[in-house]
Amino acid sequence: MRAPEGSSHEARKRVLSGFRPTGPMHIGHLVGALENWIRLQETHDCFFAICDWHALTSEYADTSSIKDYVLDMALDWLAAGLDPEKCTIFVQSHVPEHAELHLLLSMIVPVTWLERVPTYKEQQQQISNRDLTNYGFLGYPVLQAADILIYRAELVPVGEDQLAHLELCREIARRFNSLYGPVFPEPQALTTRVPRVPGTDGRKMSKSYGNALNLGDPIEETRERVLRMVTDPARKTRQDPGNPDICPVYDLHKAFSDRTTIDLVNVECRRAGIGCIDCKTYLLKHLEPVLRPIQERRSRLARERDRVREILAEGARRARAEATRTMESVRAAMKMDTRLPG
Ligand code: SF4
Repeated sequence: MRAPEGSSHEARKRVLSGFRPTGPMHIGHLVGALENWIRLQETHDCFFAICDWHALTSEYADTSSIKDYVLDMALDWLAAGLDPEKCTIFVQSHVPEHAELHLLLSMIVPVTWLERVPTYKEQQQQISNRDLTNYGFLGYPVLQAADILIYRAELVPVGEDQLAHLELCREIARRFNSLYGPVFPEPQALTTRVPRVPGTDGRKMSKSYGNALNLGDPIEETRERVLRMVTDPARKTRQDPGNPDICPVYDLHKAFSDRTTIDLVNVECRRAGIGCIDCKTYLLKHLEPVLRPIQERRSRLARERDRVREILAEGARRARAEATRTMESVRAAMKMDTRLPG
């Protein structure tokens, strides 16, 4: 059971993290984030947000799938092992205080701070099939700062590509505290080394490339896709030696297989001692036992969608209690608590 208020649970450092519900979760998310979250929920006071408002910053023109992705994301998280008794799982828009804090912070953030965030220009250039000149996209890091600061989170698990956003969040916290007095702790990055998990075509695993192995895909489909994965192109025949260092299948071995298998592949690939189908079969021997229990739990949970909605409602209740407390301090610090006498 979740520890009662005032117990030692309260002394645990608070962690905030989240994902945008823009598509199914895949094995890259499992290795890159979820496995870390599952460990953190044992030792930290964790808040995990399904950031549906963030999804809007790029998906505003077609919102038809966001609602389904929200529930799917909750299913994936629970199936992977997040335990609502040990952590708080909620949907961002169920806690409207995020929007209020976003608005207040947007008053104190210079536009130049946002324009210099590296991902702002990069993504505008890379994502050519959407118009990302909207105000919400520019303000994305301010909403993200609000998501973190509203829980007074001390730690934020981040990948290298998110460090600039977190630094901006720290800058925003400092600016708020210097203008109105100390309210927010400056959150620290919690970086963990995660193995590279490429997609089936060797590029970064991503739903937009169609190369992802999703947690919710049937095992048979995953098996077929792994067997068709690209390998070292130098191995045209079974007799050609290969180089595992440039093969995406080897990267997946490093993420999922045991040491003995990794070492065996490393040696036998180079001297054509094994073929690529053998190699992929070894990988599946290690990948399937990870995915099968997730899928079984996922199918069970998918039949109990009301229970999942209850978990999200309870998560929102807990999150909202924290967010309300922070907003009282924020309004008081800003002298905007005009509903109070005095
Ligand atoms: S044997 Fe394995 S590591 Fe070597 S090229 Fe084939 S799939 Fe890649």
